[in-house]
Amino acid sequence: MTTIRPTLRCPCDGRHLARGFAYERRPEGEAAFPIAGAYRREYRRCAVCRHWFSHHEMDLAGLYSGAYVDATYGDRMRQTFERIMALPEDRSDNASRVATINDFARRRFGSRGTAPRLLDVGTGLAVFPARMKAAGWVCTALDPDPRAAAHARDVVGITALAGDFRSRAAADLGQFDLVSFNKVLEHVEDPVELLASSHPLLAPGGFVYLELPDAEAAAREGAGREEFFIEHHHVFSMASTALLAARAGFSLLALESLREPSGKFTIRAFLEAAPAKALD
Ligand SMILES: [Zn+2]
Repeated sequence: MTTIRPTLRCPCDGRHLARGFAYERRPEGEAAFPIAGAYRREYRRCAVCRHWFSHHEMDLAGLYSGAYVDATYGDRMRQTFERIMALPEDRSDNASRVATINDFARRRFGSRGTAPRLLDVGTGLAVFPARMKAAGWVCTALDPDPRAAAHARDVVGITALAGDFRSRAAADLGQFDLVSFNKVLEHVEDPVELLASSHPLLAPGGFVYLELPDAEAAAREGAGREEFFIEHHHVFSMASTALLAARAGFSLLALESLREPSGKFTIRAFLEAAPAKALD
């Protein structure tokens, strides 16, 4: 039995939790992960920072070692990749994301002689690095599933590694102008730790891009929203995104909430390493 204990290391941790949504069966649209025993889970919502924490006692060990890709994509990774890449711009979450990031990078870096470098953490189908490559970035993708990494290498034609990003020395990967976490941090128990471990991978002047599910906006449409599906240990608020950044040693450069073309309620944030604090 694995008990999930999601943490945000917040000052309000555990002392102001109220019941959010409770589930006794799989909501429509959620992947049918193999679960031993009864399906029973709930979200608890922090009354102070409005962060939502998943709480349950189901055994989800091994969710990402193949089972996630099996349940989400099956053998259809390439077909799904091609379908998403073919979406018209106004219906593509990815096109909007890539445009936003390139605007930001142009303002931050100006025109440089060398191609900027991207590390995409938790790359999945790799539609994001595929478009970034087309926009002139040198891309590296990381995914825990070897099939996702192989897909990124063989279909997208970029450097890709299978494995846990924290287990690799920074020297193995080099440094990057951008490290991206597109809908990744809600899947881990300790998002502060994962985000903080990206510091050594950032080149001087580099930045981090985050996308997270927006709990407050999604909750207004009810418990059946995909932002609250079982694989999300955390669902964020604007306040808890700011808290996450600060706890992981980053400063916010930009923060916004939006509804994506797919209908997802999403928080986007740009971060840079926080200046070292002087000790008094
Ligand atoms: Zn809180």
